[in-house]
Amino acid sequence: MRAFAHDVFTYPLPPGHRFPLGKYRLVREGAEASPSIDVADARAATWDELGLAHAPDYLARVGDGGLARREELALGLPWSPELVERARRSVGATVAAAQAALADGVGANLGGGTHHAHPDGGRGFCVFNDVVVAVRALRAAGRVQRVLVVDLDVHQGDGTHAAFMEDPEAFTFGVNGFRNYPFRRVPGDLEADFADGVGDDPYLEAVGRLLPQALARARPELCFYLAGADPYERDRLGRLALTKEGLAARDRLVREALARAGVPVCLTLAGGYADPIEDTVEINLTTLREFASPS
Ligand SMILES: [Zn+2]
Repeated sequence: MRAFAHDVFTYPLPPGHRFPLGKYRLVREGAEASPSIDVADARAATWDELGLAHAPDYLARVGDGGLARREELALGLPWSPELVERARRSVGATVAAAQAALADGVGANLGGGTHHAHPDGGRGFCVFNDVVVAVRALRAAGRVQRVLVVDLDVHQGDGTHAAFMEDPEAFTFGVNGFRNYPFRRVPGDLEADFADGVGDDPYLEAVGRLLPQALARARPELCFYLAGADPYERDRLGRLALTKEGLAARDRLVREALARAGVPVCLTLAGGYADPIEDTVEINLTTLREFASPS
């Protein structure tokens, strides 16, 4: 499996900031140690590509450091030129992973899944929406039309939903922690919401029951899977309580369902905020190895 990294493009964060910047290097090192995963650095998405998903005035403010204070607060990360470069690389990694998926059946971004970024602005640690950019870039190149987004990050993919609201050829399926961010929801096409503390069995039952419906309704040529590690029981932000074994079973369920349907998959890792961060890294690497293993 080809995988695309962007962790070397780091950016400044204030001490104690809860964004786990360190996990990306650890995930890359683990991926590089896996014989079934071939890691390359991603190119930066171009501003034209970003313009497929985002308003020109927002992109202009991101580019020149002109974000309003409230926009920076909504983003939750301090603006810097390095942050912009990193965010462009992260989108580039998803575009490259999606192209790899179409060629090889699977491709991965060792990050990405920035699903809170709306067309008109960044939110919740997400500067740009990588999946929306990738879908539109592939369509512009005539590569795919119908896509399915399977978003199993614990947080709802509000930005992706907003972008695809009027798009009949982009189907969004998500399973969320009901009391998790964002607090102003944007409806997707098919969603399940769970109360605090829900564990493996009800979660896996829902994925197993709803994913075939999503596939039947979407009839996708390509799937984007946001394999969030934050439904984990020891995640600091996620309110659900899946075990590591439950998350591995979830990934296997998704991989097998997509394989049966013959749908190529672009894997992104999305959120994960466990303490210690090594738990998130282990969950991410288990996901990557599951998708890299021959079926
Ligand atoms: Zn999340």
